[in-house]
Formats: sequence, C-alpha cells, structure tokens
Amino acid sequence: MQLNHLRGVIHAHSTYSDGRHTLQKMAEHCRQAGYDYLGISDHSKAAFYANGLSVERVAEQHREIDELNQQLAPFRIFKGIEADILNDGALDYDSETLSRFDFVIASVHSNLKMTEEKAMNRLLRAIENPYTRLLGHPTGRLLLSREGYPIDHRRIIDACAANNVAIELNANPYRLDIDWRWIDYCTEKGVWISINPDAHSIEGISDMQYGVIAARKGLLTRALTLNAQSIADIAAFFARQ
Ligand SMILES: [Zn+2]
Ligand SMILES: [Zn+2]
Repeated sequence: MQLNHLRGVIHAHSTYSDGRHTLQKMAEHCRQAGYDYLGISDHSKAAFYANGLSVERVAEQHREIDELNQQLAPFRIFKGIEADILNDGALDYDSETLSRFDFVIASVHSNLKMTEEKAMNRLLRAIENPYTRLLGHPTGRLLLSREGYPIDHRRIIDACAANNVAIELNANPYRLDIDWRWIDYCTEKGVWISINPDAHSIEGISDMQYGVIAARKGLLTRALTLNAQSIADIAAFFARQ
C-alpha cells in the first residue's frame, strides 16, 4: 500500500455536525488533492454532543450534495452518515432514513465501558443491520488515553465477512483502529479494509498517511483496500452489487 494508491476519502465530518470546514470546502480540498471522491459521514442524531443530524438536516445535506456533485463532476460526493450504535446494537435512524444514504458507517460513541459480551452483542447486531456498509473504529480505543472496549476480533471479522461489511482502519494517529495485527486475518477472510481519516477539517484528511503506514505493517493489499477502488467500484460496493 502507498498513499497514492488511495482514490478517495471515506469518513469525514463537515460543519453539518462537528467538523471545522464546510462540506463544499472539504470536497474541493479532496478534489484538489487529486482524489476522485469523498464519502462524507457526519454524526447521526443520537450524537447530540457532536451536533448530530436530525432527519430534516439530512435532507438539507443531501440537497447540497446533489448540487455540489453537479458543480464538481466528475468528482463525486457520496452521501454517508456515521450512525451511532445504540446501547442495544440498533442504529439511530429508522430504515426509511437509513435507505436514503449511499453508505452507513456504524460506530460506537457512547457507553464505552462495557464487558466483551455486551460489546460483541452491540457490534454484531450493527454489523448484521442491512444498511451498515462499514464498521467504524472497531474498539473505540484512543492511544495513550483510553483502552478500547474488549472485543473478539475474530468473530467481528467473521461477521463482517458474512455480511459483506468493510472494516475501517481509522487513520487518526490516536486511533489506528482496527489494529494492524488483525489485517492478515481480514485478508484471509476477504474483508475490505477502508483507510479512513475521520477528518474533522481539511488538514485532517492527510491523516490517511498514518493509516497507510499501519496498513503496510499488516501487509494490506491494494486489492482489498476499499478506498483504493474506483468511483464505479465503490458505488457498486455501497449498492451491494
Ligand atoms: Zn466515530
Ligand atoms: Zn467520525
């Protein structure tokens, strides 16, 4: 893996939720940096602490994305969301709302102190949700400050393989989650890894470089790196074709 193998950026926040830059600025920055697409994924409604999007604001953002996609073509913005995995493993929008996104990243942001059994039940239910396309920062760890909740990585990766869900390698240098030691098992199971910046500003997008280094330690191939794929292939993955 090399940084210049990455064709697009998946998992970024804008001023719609807790990002510092507007959607337009984020998209223009990605296009100028040579990327073909941006999968924007602001926080969902349960993330009130991060200005998560109500259903009305989702609709507003989708209208803006449609306009920007006309202006910026062939660059493409995919309509994503980082949906909170609730305490019981459900996502925090109804199916009708979830169906309007191009892709859903399911992430745990609340009640992080939990047993492995509890964490597994939450994550497995979220992975099995038919709208989930990526599992965000699988353990929730913050390096040097917070241990992640305990999970059985093998069972999580098996479930992602069974449900064709990609796993994020969150490239924020304080996360690097999924840990690189699990990449070979993902590869063995044919599970996509997406090297995601989780950017909250245009500067944050360059964090993908750290994800590439971690991915290289795990011998991740370009062929199994989700955001090393073309717009058409990503669109097909999001549409489950
Ligand atoms: Zn997150
Ligand atoms: Zn995020």
